Amino acid sequence: MPAVSLQNVTKVYGEDTVALEDVTFDIEQGEFVVVLGPSGAGKSTLLRILNGLTNPTSGTVEINDRPVGNAGSAVGMVFQMHYLIESMSAYRNALTGALGRTGSLASVLTLNSKGDKRAALEALDTVGLLEEAEQRASSMSGGQKQRVGIARALVQDPDLLLADEPVSSLDPKAARDVMGYMKRAAEDRNLTTLASLHQVNIAREFGDRFIGIRDGEVFFDGDRDDLSMEI
Ligand code: ADP
Ligand code: ADP
Repeated sequence: MPAVSLQNVTKVYGEDTVALEDVTFDIEQGEFVVVLGPSGAGKSTLLRILNGLTNPTSGTVEINDRPVGNAGSAVGMVFQMHYLIESMSAYRNALTGALGRTGSLASVLTLNSKGDKRAALEALDTVGLLEEAEQRASSMSGGQKQRVGIARALVQDPDLLLADEPVSSLDPKAARDVMGYMKRAAEDRNLTTLASLHQVNIAREFGDRFIGIRDGEVFFDGDRDDLSMEI
């Protein structure tokens, strides 16, 4: 069974803005997939559908054989604009990921279990920030903040990790650094990952599989060798 399965997914906003048109693909457990495409291609819409934030107009989306949005499948999300709480430490920010898993507000306040605390520290370790655990987010670099954002997603113990343009606001060195941590985290945990990127060079370096979207349609789906021939 594939980890993620999209069948004939179409998304129309309003009367006639077709953001995705008849998109069909499967992702296997542990695959690290990069979605490439120009602005307006439909990348964010695809991620929002996988995250259950918006419903497709038609078609089906399943994670681990269950419709998206069903209780039981956790999706971890890494954002372009990290959305950390600047006044809180890296550790506290990572711990908020437990909210996504338990769905309980108590978990984000003071009542985190030992397991949550351990998961937060392990996740910070995975992204190389254990020593910075007590540092306030506001004092961190853009790359470090994105790594905390990855840690927060990992704390959910997600079935699927989604990253929406996670390195677009970073310089190339920080971008490679962040992608490297994300790749290693995914490999360590055999985590199925789908990241949208617009930098082809960075995509080529870290992706195992590349899905190209243009005007809402998949026009490319292949590995690094295929990508070299196409682009
Ligand atoms: P990308 O992430 O690749 O830039 P999007 O998924 O954001 O692409 O957008 C795909 C298309 O859908 C664009 O034409 C965009 O303007 C449109 N779109 C995205 N979100 C909405 C929305 N909430 N309402 C109406 N149109 C939208
Ligand atoms: P991105 O390319 O990163 O998705 P956008 O500027 O396209 O950023 O979209 C930012 C937000 O605005 C999204 O939440 C999207 O749903 C919404 N949006 C984008 N295009 C439209 C549109 N044509 N009409 C209404 N909302 C839109």
